[in-house]
Amino acid sequence: PLQESDPVEDHQITVCIRKRPLNKSEFARQEVDVISVPSKDEIIVHQPKVKMDLEKFLENKRFKFDYVFDETCCNELVYKYTAKPLVQTIFEGGMATCFAYGQTGSGKTHTMGGDFRGKTQDCKKGIYAMVAEDVFKFLKSRKYKKLNLAVFASFFEIYDNDIFDLLANKAKVHILEDGDHQVNIVGLTEKVVDSVDEVIELIDRGNTARASGNTSANRNSSRSHAVFQVVLRTTGTDRIHGTFSLIDLADNARAVDMNPPNRQTKMEGAAINTSLIVLKECIRALERKDAHIPFGGSKITLVLRDSFIGEKCKTCMIGTISPGMASCEDSLNTLRYVDRVK
Ligand code: ADP
Ligand code: MG
Repeated sequence: PLQESDPVEDHQITVCIRKRPLNKSEFARQEVDVISVPSKDEIIVHQPKVKMDLEKFLENKRFKFDYVFDETCCNELVYKYTAKPLVQTIFEGGMATCFAYGQTGSGKTHTMGGDFRGKTQDCKKGIYAMVAEDVFKFLKSRKYKKLNLAVFASFFEIYDNDIFDLLANKAKVHILEDGDHQVNIVGLTEKVVDSVDEVIELIDRGNTARASGNTSANRNSSRSHAVFQVVLRTTGTDRIHGTFSLIDLADNARAVDMNPPNRQTKMEGAAINTSLIVLKECIRALERKDAHIPFGGSKITLVLRDSFIGEKCKTCMIGTISPGMASCEDSLNTLRYVDRVK
């Protein structure tokens, strides 16, 4: 597996996988770990199969990524190789994006929002807060102090085609394209922040809002994309200098697995699938430097449109997977998806 001493590579698009450990209840069920990580950039799924003569065997499916984090890797280590190298990008006037993609319970929120200790989440150890911590370090450094930048934070969720402000009691907000073809979210709360503690307070508030009271029936946080943004603005002109978007994507549940399979969940599933496919297409188009990028295809890509244009965009995708045999198909789906992003 990856070691602390391994070099951090410089990519415009970084794709990686994080495998979480088996949890207590999986241990209790004697769930088998079918995922192995033979090196810092390889992962193998040992998928159980049955032969014609009914003999059981394991089929090994091997994938390669920029990095693979096994179950011993902590959030700090994952951060070092994924979002941390992108902090510089926004100080240099670019756009940075980091996504967590994976099935329910595979560790997206744990990675982005922070370690869970029992029921409470320690968001200091999440990628959101670690980005904020480094942003303040950069801001005070000799190199960037003279830029006169101020830091702003916003936190919202995209559910179906609607956007809700997590820092304003989930008030519904709208996207508008202005005269300069800039995509704006009208009325979205953007709080000026001066310290990591202030950012952590906002993350806590947003997380609480995300988990609480719903505006429509059957709402569940796992059916929405959560977007936490750190925006650098030039003091005085207020012009955006750089933006870091951190996204805890909706669970990539397969339509067939949806329970209960009513109309609402089916529609949600379709919207999520579409947005995840469009997202993949946009990142691929960015990598190929295509002239046409299909960001109009979903709300999440429209919101992130400016992050898909230009030389100064950097993106990182962290696929999260559960180790158990029961999750084999979902894990393969995640590996194939992230594999195709690049
Ligand atoms: P998701 O957001 O993908 O549905 P969560 O982040 O909520 O999944 O994780 C599900 C559970 O597994 C949580 O209790 C979380 O603390 C735990 N977990 C996830 N990833 C890890 C990890 N790398 N190490 C330890 N526990 C983890
Ligand atoms: Mg989650």
